[in-house]
Amino acid sequence: MHEISIAESILQIIEDTARAEGYARVKVVWLEIGQLAGVETESLRFCFDVVARDSIARDARLEIIETAGLGWCMECACNRVVTSRYEPCPDCGSFRMEVTGGDEMRVRELEVE
Ligand SMILES: [Zn+2]
Repeated sequence: MHEISIAESILQIIEDTARAEGYARVKVVWLEIGQLAGVETESLRFCFDVVARDSIARDARLEIIETAGLGWCMECACNRVVTSRYEPCPDCGSFRMEVTGGDEMRVRELEVE
């Protein structure tokens, strides 16, 4: 399952950071997920609870911030906000779009003790 490996890599980042900074407990994890990243947030929450069960982040709350998808329209030569990978340009209707943002995921911040 896709989300389980994402949850594991998030936990890895948290544990590495916690070790480096000497955190005892992580309370909140702020996650930025692009709308085009193809991540099911509900399923990710569930998977994170499972993988974090015996870790420093076991009681941590996931705060998910969705960032907008961006596509470069080759006709308009401009970046447009899109909600899916296969959407035409909202301005000119062209399908000659290339995803330029909103397809990534990162840990933005940790709230710790
Ligand atoms: Zn366009």
